[in-house]
Amino acid sequence: METNINLTFDEMWDKIIACDHTYDGQFYTAVKTTKIYCRPSCKSRKPKKINVDFYDDIHMVELAGFRACKRCQPEVEHSPHTQLIKNVTAFLIKEYKQQLTLQDIANNVGISPFYLERLFKQETAETPRSYLEKIRIDKAIHLLKSTDWTMLAICYDIGFQSPSNFYKVFRRMNNCSPTEYRNLHK
Ligand SMILES: [Zn+2]
Repeated sequence: METNINLTFDEMWDKIIACDHTYDGQFYTAVKTTKIYCRPSCKSRKPKKINVDFYDDIHMVELAGFRACKRCQPEVEHSPHTQLIKNVTAFLIKEYKQQLTLQDIANNVGISPFYLERLFKQETAETPRSYLEKIRIDKAIHLLKSTDWTMLAICYDIGFQSPSNFYKVFRRMNNCSPTEYRNLHK
Protein backbone atom coordinates (compact mmCIF):
# COMPACT_ATOMS: atom_id res chain seq x y z
CA MET A 1 0.00 0.00 0.00
CA GLU A 2 1.49 3.35 -1.05
CA THR A 3 0.94 6.35 1.17
CA ASN A 4 1.29 10.00 0.20
CA ILE A 5 3.27 11.01 3.25
CA ASN A 6 6.98 11.50 3.20
CA LEU A 7 7.86 8.35 5.16
CA THR A 8 9.11 4.94 4.09
CA PHE A 9 7.67 1.68 5.40
CA ASP A 10 10.66 1.25 7.71
CA GLU A 11 10.32 4.75 9.10
CA MET A 12 6.64 4.17 9.84
CA TRP A 13 7.51 0.83 11.40
CA ASP A 14 10.05 2.54 13.70
CA LYS A 15 7.37 5.02 14.81
CA ILE A 16 4.87 2.35 15.78
CA ILE A 17 7.52 0.38 17.66
CA ALA A 18 8.28 3.58 19.58
CA CYS A 19 4.54 4.30 20.14
CA ASP A 20 5.32 7.77 18.81
CA HIS A 21 2.30 10.07 19.02
CA THR A 22 3.96 12.70 16.79
CA TYR A 23 2.50 11.01 13.73
CA ASP A 24 -0.99 10.23 15.00
CA GLY A 25 -3.54 11.14 12.37
CA GLN A 26 -0.93 11.08 9.59
CA PHE A 27 -1.05 7.35 9.00
CA TYR A 28 -2.72 4.21 10.33
CA THR A 29 -1.35 0.76 11.04
CA ALA A 30 -3.57 -1.96 9.57
CA VAL A 31 -2.98 -5.48 10.85
CA LYS A 32 -3.87 -8.01 8.18
CA THR A 33 -4.27 -10.95 10.56
CA THR A 34 -6.69 -9.27 12.99
CA LYS A 35 -8.29 -6.81 10.52
CA ILE A 36 -7.82 -4.06 13.11
CA TYR A 37 -6.28 -0.64 12.52
CA CYS A 38 -4.48 1.62 15.01
CA ARG A 39 -2.85 4.96 15.58
CA PRO A 40 0.98 4.92 15.43
CA SER A 41 1.07 5.58 19.19
CA CYS A 42 -1.12 2.57 20.12
CA LYS A 43 0.21 0.76 23.17
CA SER A 44 -1.23 -2.64 22.22
CA ARG A 45 1.11 -5.54 21.57
CA LYS A 46 2.96 -4.97 18.30
CA PRO A 47 2.04 -7.09 15.28
CA LYS A 48 4.64 -8.91 13.18
CA LYS A 49 6.13 -6.62 10.57
CA ILE A 50 5.02 -8.90 7.77
CA ASN A 51 1.36 -8.56 8.83
CA VAL A 52 1.30 -4.77 8.69
CA ASP A 53 0.05 -2.39 6.03
CA PHE A 54 0.13 1.39 6.34
CA TYR A 55 -2.61 3.72 5.19
CA ASP A 56 -2.60 7.50 5.21
CA ASP A 57 -6.37 7.81 4.76
CA ILE A 58 -8.82 6.59 7.38
CA HIS A 59 -11.54 6.10 4.75
CA MET A 60 -9.30 3.82 2.72
CA VAL A 61 -8.41 1.67 5.69
CA GLU A 62 -12.09 1.29 6.60
CA LEU A 63 -13.01 0.55 2.99
CA ALA A 64 -10.40 -2.18 3.00
CA GLY A 65 -12.38 -3.88 5.77
CA PHE A 66 -10.37 -2.97 8.87
CA ARG A 67 -12.07 -2.12 12.18
CA ALA A 68 -10.89 0.58 14.59
CA CYS A 69 -8.85 -0.60 17.57
CA LYS A 70 -10.81 -0.25 20.82
CA ARG A 71 -7.72 0.71 22.74
CA CYS A 72 -6.32 3.65 20.75
CA GLN A 73 -9.60 4.60 19.02
CA PRO A 74 -8.07 5.94 15.80
CA GLU A 75 -11.51 6.95 14.47
CA VAL A 76 -12.20 9.34 17.35
CA GLU A 77 -11.23 12.97 16.92
CA HIS A 78 -10.39 14.31 20.34
CA SER A 79 -10.93 17.97 19.65
CA PRO A 80 -12.62 20.26 17.11
CA HIS A 81 -9.17 21.58 16.22
CA THR A 82 -7.76 18.19 15.30
CA GLN A 83 -8.11 18.63 11.55
CA LEU A 84 -6.21 21.89 11.65
CA ILE A 85 -3.42 20.35 13.72
CA LYS A 86 -3.30 17.42 11.28
CA ASN A 87 -2.93 19.86 8.40
CA VAL A 88 -0.05 21.56 10.18
CA THR A 89 1.79 18.34 10.97
CA ALA A 90 1.21 17.00 7.44
CA PHE A 91 2.73 20.22 6.10
CA LEU A 92 5.76 19.87 8.41
CA ILE A 93 6.33 16.21 7.47
CA LYS A 94 6.16 17.14 3.78
CA GLU A 95 8.24 20.33 3.88
CA TYR A 96 10.78 19.66 6.67
CA LYS A 97 13.72 20.17 4.27
CA GLN A 98 12.69 23.77 3.64
CA GLN A 99 13.47 26.77 5.79
CA LEU A 100 10.14 27.27 7.51
CA THR A 101 9.19 30.23 9.64
CA LEU A 102 6.15 30.26 11.87
CA GLN A 103 4.64 32.67 9.33
CA ASP A 104 5.15 30.13 6.48
CA ILE A 105 3.41 27.43 8.48
CA ALA A 106 0.57 29.77 9.48
CA ASN A 107 0.09 30.88 5.87
CA ASN A 108 -0.21 27.27 4.77
CA VAL A 109 -3.17 26.63 7.04
CA GLY A 110 -4.65 30.13 6.75
CA ILE A 111 -4.46 31.39 10.33
CA SER A 112 -2.30 33.94 12.13
CA PRO A 113 1.09 32.91 13.54
CA PHE A 114 -0.02 33.94 17.01
CA TYR A 115 -3.18 31.83 16.88
CA LEU A 116 -1.27 28.90 15.33
CA GLU A 117 1.33 28.88 18.10
CA ARG A 118 -1.29 29.09 20.86
CA LEU A 119 -3.60 26.46 19.36
CA PHE A 120 -0.78 24.07 18.52
CA LYS A 121 0.61 24.28 22.02
CA GLN A 122 -2.82 23.74 23.54
CA GLU A 123 -3.44 20.63 21.40
CA THR A 124 -0.02 18.98 21.34
CA ALA A 125 1.85 20.55 24.28
CA GLU A 126 4.56 21.46 21.78
CA THR A 127 5.31 24.37 19.47
CA PRO A 128 5.33 24.00 15.67
CA ARG A 129 9.10 24.64 15.90
CA SER A 130 9.75 21.80 18.35
CA TYR A 131 7.50 19.50 16.31
CA LEU A 132 9.50 20.31 13.19
CA GLU A 133 12.75 19.60 15.06
CA LYS A 134 11.36 16.23 16.14
CA ILE A 135 10.50 15.31 12.54
CA ARG A 136 13.98 16.40 11.37
CA ILE A 137 15.75 14.41 14.07
CA ASP A 138 13.63 11.35 13.22
CA LYS A 139 14.84 11.74 9.63
CA ALA A 140 18.42 12.10 10.85
CA ILE A 141 18.11 8.85 12.79
CA HIS A 142 16.75 7.10 9.70
CA LEU A 143 19.66 8.40 7.59
CA LEU A 144 22.26 7.55 10.25
CA LYS A 145 21.01 3.96 10.31
CA SER A 146 20.38 3.45 6.60
CA THR A 147 23.09 5.48 4.81
CA ASP A 148 26.79 6.31 5.02
CA TRP A 149 26.20 10.01 4.51
CA THR A 150 28.45 12.40 6.41
CA MET A 151 27.06 14.34 9.37
CA LEU A 152 27.25 17.50 7.31
CA ALA A 153 25.26 15.98 4.44
CA ILE A 154 22.60 14.75 6.85
CA CYS A 155 22.48 18.08 8.67
CA TYR A 156 21.72 20.05 5.51
CA ASP A 157 19.46 17.42 3.96
CA ILE A 158 17.07 17.49 6.91
CA GLY A 159 16.79 21.27 6.89
CA PHE A 160 19.20 22.44 9.59
CA GLN A 161 21.08 25.64 8.81
CA SER A 162 24.18 24.90 10.87
CA PRO A 163 25.92 21.75 12.14
CA SER A 164 26.18 23.21 15.65
CA ASN A 165 22.42 23.59 15.88
CA PHE A 166 21.92 20.09 14.46
CA TYR A 167 24.30 18.64 17.07
CA LYS A 168 22.66 20.59 19.88
CA VAL A 169 19.11 19.52 19.02
CA PHE A 170 20.17 15.93 18.32
CA ARG A 171 21.89 15.64 21.69
CA ARG A 172 18.96 17.18 23.54
CA MET A 173 16.61 14.55 22.09
CA ASN A 174 18.88 11.50 22.17
CA ASN A 175 21.46 12.16 24.88
CA CYS A 176 24.31 11.47 22.47
CA SER A 177 25.91 12.94 19.36
CA PRO A 178 24.84 11.80 15.87
CA THR A 179 28.20 10.04 15.46
CA GLU A 180 27.80 8.16 18.73
CA TYR A 181 24.27 7.22 17.69
CA ARG A 182 25.47 5.81 14.37
CA ASN A 183 28.25 3.82 16.03
CA LEU A 184 25.78 2.31 18.46
CA HIS A 185 23.18 1.38 15.85
CA LYS A 186 25.17 0.26 12.82
ZN1 LIG B 1 -4.74 0.44 18.72
